[in-house]
Amino acid sequence: MKEKIKVAIYIGRFAPLHNGHIEVIKHCNKNYDKTIVLIGSKNKRRTTKNPFPVNEIKKWICDNSDENTITLAINDYLYSDNKWIAQIEDLVHSLFNKNEYDYYITGHEKDASSYYLKIFPTWKVNLLPEFDNGISATYIRNNYFVDDQIFSVTKNKCIKPYVSEKVLEDLIEFRKTQAFRDLMEERIYFDNEDKKFENYPYKDTLKFNCSDAVVVCDGNVLLIERDRAPGKGTWALPGGFVNKTETYEQCAIRELFEETCLKVPEKVIKGSLKRSKIFDNPNRNVGIPRITNAFYFEIQPDYKNGFPKLPKIKGADDASSAKWISLAEVRHMILFDDHSDIIDYFVNAI
Ligand code: NAD
Repeated sequence: MKEKIKVAIYIGRFAPLHNGHIEVIKHCNKNYDKTIVLIGSKNKRRTTKNPFPVNEIKKWICDNSDENTITLAINDYLYSDNKWIAQIEDLVHSLFNKNEYDYYITGHEKDASSYYLKIFPTWKVNLLPEFDNGISATYIRNNYFVDDQIFSVTKNKCIKPYVSEKVLEDLIEFRKTQAFRDLMEERIYFDNEDKKFENYPYKDTLKFNCSDAVVVCDGNVLLIERDRAPGKGTWALPGGFVNKTETYEQCAIRELFEETCLKVPEKVIKGSLKRSKIFDNPNRNVGIPRITNAFYFEIQPDYKNGFPKLPKIKGADDASSAKWISLAEVRHMILFDDHSDIIDYFVNAI
């Protein structure tokens, strides 16, 4: 029987690409006929956990791999591993015909978050040891998102030994950008938040309660532009923290009116509630985990001279603006946290 061609599939965020990752790629290049490197979280906004653009990461991988390597970016689907697996299988099978190739999911099982290495039952798994003394991208980022004075020390001690010259150069350049300054602002926000709860007795169980409103009107969803960190300038669902004296539903409706000034009577909104669901993936946000209970409202347009008009809105409070955005357009936007997943869940059209 003709031997099948061996394809290694290596998934990661590579934020940034470090020598441990490079060793894995070298291993794949040496031991497999083809290597596919998949860069995850393409559809997630820039955060301190995910700070570098896909194109930059692609270049870093290209510089450190051979001509039999293909590098592509993939989306996250936080509430559906099935959707995530289907996306990857579709992509891989579109490149290499199922019947001629053997696929090997390759990577290092570092902790519980590596579960994804073992959710492709029809593919083989190649688990590798940790390389370069177990260097991790988290360690590099923790020593990167620091002020300039600290960076002058950590750059040489904690980053330079673990990344290529080009990656170090790009990291130094990125510090000069507004995007970096925004991320530093977020880092400080989350560090301060953490400090406030330093002495909380059951820190491992600490989660914040939030509510969001998903208001849809004839193919349009009501979004706000966030006015402050985290996610300043990012489009999001109206929502916020649940107060002591209110229910999740009351919070969603209060935040909706506060942030969008939606010109629809509260009674009508309450009567338009179709469904609600808790979204609690621990990776949905940076910092102390936030659980949100999202409420889905379907409202009708206003009719003027027999023609439909979207209800009037205006950004206020924590929102610098509010906008009705078509579901078709939202599909291509990168929203705050897991808000695309939430809209997708309710509307099932994205
Ligand atoms: P990462 O860059 O931290 O790690 C990538 C791989 O390299 C892992 O196998 C890791 O163990 C290995 N590695 C890291 N340091 C190493 C070292 N020193 N030596 C040897 N190997 C080393 O990326 P990650 O966070 O594991 O990336 C997973 C991606 O998959 C993310 O984008 C995540 O969101 C995505 N994902 C999505 C879903 C979903 O959407 N349903 C589910 C699972 C995973």
